[in-house]
Amino acid sequence: MKIQDLQVDHYRIPLPVVLSDSTHGDISHFALVVVRLRDAEGREGTGYTYTVGNIGGSAVRALIDDDLREAVVGEDSRRIERLWERMWWRLHFVGRGGLASFAMAAVDVALWDLAGKRAGEPLWRLLGGHDNRVRAYAGGIDLQFPLEQLLEQARGFVAGGFRAIKMKVGRDRMREDLERALAMRELLGPDFPLMADANMRWSVADAIRAARGLREADLVWLEEPVIPDDVAGHARVAVEGGVPIAAGENLHSVHEFEHLITHGRVAFPEPDLATLGGVTPWLKVARLAEARNLPVTSHGVHDLHVHLLAAVPNASFLEVHGFGLDRFIRQPLALHEGLAVAPDRPGHGVELEYEALAEHRQG
Ligand SMILES: [Mg+2]
Repeated sequence: MKIQDLQVDHYRIPLPVVLSDSTHGDISHFALVVVRLRDAEGREGTGYTYTVGNIGGSAVRALIDDDLREAVVGEDSRRIERLWERMWWRLHFVGRGGLASFAMAAVDVALWDLAGKRAGEPLWRLLGGHDNRVRAYAGGIDLQFPLEQLLEQARGFVAGGFRAIKMKVGRDRMREDLERALAMRELLGPDFPLMADANMRWSVADAIRAARGLREADLVWLEEPVIPDDVAGHARVAVEGGVPIAAGENLHSVHEFEHLITHGRVAFPEPDLATLGGVTPWLKVARLAEARNLPVTSHGVHDLHVHLLAAVPNASFLEVHGFGLDRFIRQPLALHEGLAVAPDRPGHGVELEYEALAEHRQG
């Protein structure tokens, strides 16, 4: 099952509305880098990754084109662990995470898509087949929304079938975060799962203060209260703040997760396969969490993550992300009464609409 060919394309995708969080400011675009692998029998596997605000998109494409192509073309597509290791060591001196993990992710996802197609199985079943229905939440990117718009968005999410919602926090005045979270709690009722995401905005002291205030809103979790590098800070926020902590979208290797899970008291490890190096390391983080009696959740690329959460026994919520690709996917993710259903099409089942993407192509 030799890999005959690799094609990589980079798109700059405009968001339908400008979105904001506490560290990226206003976000009008994201980068989508798509890899297509073709094997000797003519099968095609598709993988993709993304970056926020289109930053780094052309660098990811170049890493794949200049370096990862050589690591996989001509190799046996069935030996995914070996190919992943080859990619990791090829980029190690400039990598060990960061952009290298984004580039590896696109290739790794394409390899798993090929594996599923070859087996005639959807990824969720190929990878373990625990339960094809996964609890999903709407990930609002709404920090700058006036309160009424935030509540209106929540009503829309509920009408659209969501039974859990995440909102942004980290406004200039911390009191407004608390007021907004309590207004959401009031609107949604006491039993509705509500999360809040600070996108690394706070110092440890501020995060502890915020978490103590937010206790009243009865959050499922408080996400990324502080920078990912401050592992001890995460532990302090978890213990002194008294709210379960989620983190992981800014971690780019299994080793970083091991450190955060072991020393950071994170209750909801949140790997994003697109920023972590693909399906292969995502599953390792899920197993690591399982071994520590923790759930695993996800960030971004929900059309892919639905398979992974459906595969493993310790799945928590699937994030349905604001950077959805629905406009460019033939059959976007289906949602019923708060549950996302992993499709039964072979591989990941995501068919991109290349004609619709064409006008956004870069380079
Ligand atoms: Mg987040």
